[in-house]
Amino acid sequence: MFPLLHDPAVAGRPALAFGDGSLTYGELAGAAGTVAALLRGLPDRGAGRRVAVWATPELETAVAVVGALAAGVCVVPLNPRSGERELEHILADSAPDAVLAAPRARLPEASAGPERLDVDPWTRTALAPDTAGPLDPALVVYTSGTTGPPKGAVIPRRAVAATLDALADAWAWTGDDLLVHALPLFHVHGLVLGVLGPLRRGGALRHLGRFDTAGVGRELNAGATMFFGVPTMYHRIAEALPREPELAKGLAAARLLVSGSAALPVHDHERILAATGRRVIERYGMTETLMNTSVRADAGDRPAAAGTVGVPLPGVELRLVDDDGDPLPVPDGESVGEIQVRGPNLFTEYLNRPDATAAAFTSDGWFRTGDMAVREIDGSVRIVGRRATDLIKSGGYKIGAGEIENALLEHPAVAEAAVTGAPDEDLGERIVAWVVPADPQAPPTAGELAGHVADRLAPHKRPREVRLLDALPRNDMGKVMKRALDSCSATPLTG
Ligand code: ATP
Ligand code: MG
Repeated sequence: MFPLLHDPAVAGRPALAFGDGSLTYGELAGAAGTVAALLRGLPDRGAGRRVAVWATPELETAVAVVGALAAGVCVVPLNPRSGERELEHILADSAPDAVLAAPRARLPEASAGPERLDVDPWTRTALAPDTAGPLDPALVVYTSGTTGPPKGAVIPRRAVAATLDALADAWAWTGDDLLVHALPLFHVHGLVLGVLGPLRRGGALRHLGRFDTAGVGRELNAGATMFFGVPTMYHRIAEALPREPELAKGLAAARLLVSGSAALPVHDHERILAATGRRVIERYGMTETLMNTSVRADAGDRPAAAGTVGVPLPGVELRLVDDDGDPLPVPDGESVGEIQVRGPNLFTEYLNRPDATAAAFTSDGWFRTGDMAVREIDGSVRIVGRRATDLIKSGGYKIGAGEIENALLEHPAVAEAAVTGAPDEDLGERIVAWVVPADPQAPPTAGELAGHVADRLAPHKRPREVRLLDALPRNDMGKVMKRALDSCSATPLTG
């Protein structure tokens, strides 16, 4: 999977840096070799070995994952912030042969089940040749749990390789790139793109441990070329730009700024573009498919339309289907359909969930993403939202929550916004806006918001109800968990 780890010509090049620790390609190969040797000593139950990796601290996590993959062992990344029950569930569901962790990692009692193996990034053992096959499982990654309990997606090695090579093509990713990384390593964004991506190409990454805008600015000014973030990070960047000139300078100098995992609010994108002259490239993927689409690095600096996530990556087949599952004919810039995907990037199954796996695929192998989109005439994909939570059927219209959220976020008194549909006798569903005020002491009035949306949205898209709350419920990736909104304490905005 990582031929460069065996290439003496790149052994002296930087590979990983986290805090004060750093490893060249040669050192990483040696450290991964130690992990691989440790894992080869585990008894083989016949079905292939599987290890869980405690995903912090980042240096040891990266070494553990690379070492396991080099030994042909399937990796289950564990979220150190999972509650005890979730962790117990994931360990029981994935049944790893061992848990790999840094000696300094403090694992809770709950994970005491499988044997614990310490990962020491400073010992070196020669790395044996990688002999695993393309359909062998590389990873079992649990989905983010935005719409329901997390499901373990079994990701074959071929999907990782195909995705990274396709992204390298779309982003002109080379061995000279240095990535500033601040994402957790237990989802595909932070792990596959953020760690395995640079290593596949001979580039390097520096992990900040924790995201902060000053750190991103500092690294980009010191020569890093790319930053990958989630929309909540870009929101904080947009907020910080007016008071952090170094950040604006760093972003302006970056070769590539990429956002993914959720929709990037247009207002944040526009503020970043205005302050830095740099456009944030959006890409769209999911645990089950790794990457589906991306805006290409050579797409120019034209501002993207709201929700535009680019074109299918090389090798990825993508189509939209109507409610009956029939493919929509030609891209027309307006018909909304569910995205279905086919290609070498797909997962093989949900672990221990044959029914969920069967329901996820059509008879001819298309994966049903559950995401709704429009295909622009130029072939690019515009995400409307998730079928389950973002598509509101009101008064005979199908309305995407994202467009309404984007309109609300343009109001200066609105810090965060989420839009849902509530059952309504007359309309089927009525549009409800959940709003976090920028200043809790001075929330927007109902009249102000009504006037604001009236200037931007057709009548059938305007919220019928506004509810104020202190913060939106978000998961570790900063994604809004709409299913949890109804149990949040919120005040109706009246008058
Ligand atoms: P779960 O499947 O457990 O409910 P999840 O779908 O959030 O959680 P992930 O696989 O991490 O878990 O996320 C993939 C989803 O994130 C996609 O299906 C899509 O809804 C959303 N997404 C990812 N990138 C984008 C993007 N650029 N714009 C809009 N939505 C996106
Ligand atoms: Mg999902």
